[in-house]
Amino acid sequence: MLVTGKQEKQILAQAREERWAIGAFNAFDLLTAEAIFQAAECLKVPAMIQTWDYHDPAAPDTSMFGAFEAKVFMRLLLERAAMSPVPVMLHLDHTPTYEGCLRGIQAGAASVMIDGSQKPIDENIAITKKVVEAAHPCGVLVEGEIGHVSGHGGSDGMVYTEVMDAKRYCESTGIDLCAVSIGTVHGIYASEPVLNYDRIAELREEISIPLVMHGSSGLSEEQFKKAIAAGIVKINFYTYTQVVGGKAAAEAAASSKTPMLGSIAKTGASAARDYIMEHMKIFGTRPVMR
Ligand SMILES: [Zn+2]
Repeated sequence: MLVTGKQEKQILAQAREERWAIGAFNAFDLLTAEAIFQAAECLKVPAMIQTWDYHDPAAPDTSMFGAFEAKVFMRLLLERAAMSPVPVMLHLDHTPTYEGCLRGIQAGAASVMIDGSQKPIDENIAITKKVVEAAHPCGVLVEGEIGHVSGHGGSDGMVYTEVMDAKRYCESTGIDLCAVSIGTVHGIYASEPVLNYDRIAELREEISIPLVMHGSSGLSEEQFKKAIAAGIVKINFYTYTQVVGGKAAAEAAASSKTPMLGSIAKTGASAARDYIMEHMKIFGTRPVMR
């Protein structure tokens, strides 16, 4: 079933209260999306699938996904989500512009992310507020980010979110989810990340909306469990799903005399599905809305 913004808010509030998390898995192709649907359906738990607005020139990687593909992909996700026996939340990830968020709202996302985290805080507040004013009357939730999680668009350097900045940002914008920087990085980890669990707990104490951790794939089971216990509710998860699935597909191709696209891609997607299921269990994701 397709989850509305209102229902997504309830699911996230429940997760926050009960200290478990929702994995927000990225997909920009149907096989990865299907792997996420199947993982959630096997475990009978809610799923969150997020995609990007690559029509936007400022989005993380404009070469991967054009405006037409994004539109078609969203329609396919909406259809597939409606057919699913589990609740499915569709989310638009990292969108740096107001217009990009509007496209996500129009496309049927339950929630959209405005990413103004690289802007000075007052500018970040202003653009986020504008998106909230457009999204809320449509029943769409808004995720904002304060304190930048590096790794996108050549950004680097660790910036831990300041608690009082986050409190001010949340209160002045009216966002529904708050992405914070607590030691993770987007993409592949070159060295062991150092997560600041105390900072997560302090943020949870001051902020009443669900906290989001970006750059999460590649962390250890212990790191996930500690971050969730401290207060993380939504876990953005992408890179390592692609690596695990990609490696399985490459091995299938290497060991086959006549590699066939369909079966190789399916082998990769099955490995991605198992990897996602493993993480849904680690996150303690529970059945909801039964
Ligand atoms: Zn992110």
